[in-house]
Amino acid sequence: MINIQQLQKSFGELEVLKNISLSIPDHQVVAVIGPSGSGKSTFLRCLNGLETITGGTITVNGHEISMKAPRKILQREIHAIRQETGMVFQQFNLYPHKSVVENVMEALIVVKKMERGAAHKIASDLLSKVGLAEKEDAYPSQLSGGQQQRVAIARALAMEPKLMLFDEPTSALDPELVGEVLKVMKNLAEDGMTMVIVTHEMNFAKDVADRILFMADGVIVEDAEPISFFENPQTERAQKFLRQVS
Ligand code: ADP
Ligand code: MG
Repeated sequence: MINIQQLQKSFGELEVLKNISLSIPDHQVVAVIGPSGSGKSTFLRCLNGLETITGGTITVNGHEISMKAPRKILQREIHAIRQETGMVFQQFNLYPHKSVVENVMEALIVVKKMERGAAHKIASDLLSKVGLAEKEDAYPSQLSGGQQQRVAIARALAMEPKLMLFDEPTSALDPELVGEVLKVMKNLAEDGMTMVIVTHEMNFAKDVADRILFMADGVIVEDAEPISFFENPQTERAQKFLRQVS
């Protein structure tokens, strides 16, 4: 699904991602963890072309991002990746003046040019899937943060993505609302969705992820199965990080 070769990303003088190479197969659930400022969000944003990379190549589902490609081709490839990738952020960014179901229908109508009836059916099914069938006609402000984030997940799923990217999806939530969002993500993982998840939820990473990427200073310092990472971290950096978060 994803192949990354010598990915580099700098903001001016600041080198944020340093020569990252790795592959992620279909259906794998990858948790990206590491200290604040280590480049996790930048990494995720590079994967769907939200950041312009400064070196290397990223291939997602056969579409290649490379700075060597002519601009027109690059834009076409990034467009294709965005169409096939759902992204969920810490902030849910729902349209406040649209109802829950309309939020989920929006891309189907605008991007996929679907008829309202068909879009409504898909949106309703997705809202049931995230446990919000009863909230279709509510407005975002009437929902809890956990419910809003579940709407954001349903909205991303409406485009039938082949890959889902999550950037700290539960970090803005009150602690008692975290579980309901993680449960939806766990269900998605069990359905076989390919997922890359930046998270501080170590128990979730341990339980749900197939693979842990531990990032520090723009480098993937450890790349391991959860059991081996959490029980037997290889580097001083990871050991220190795990002591701090536990
Ligand atoms: P993380 O998500 O691991 O906390 P980020 O990817 O957000 O880390 O940031 C990594 C580094 O890149 C930080 O030093 C941050 O200040 C810097 N950075 C991120 N985005 C930008 C930007 N748009 N312009 C300049 N520097 C940035
Ligand atoms: Mg971040």
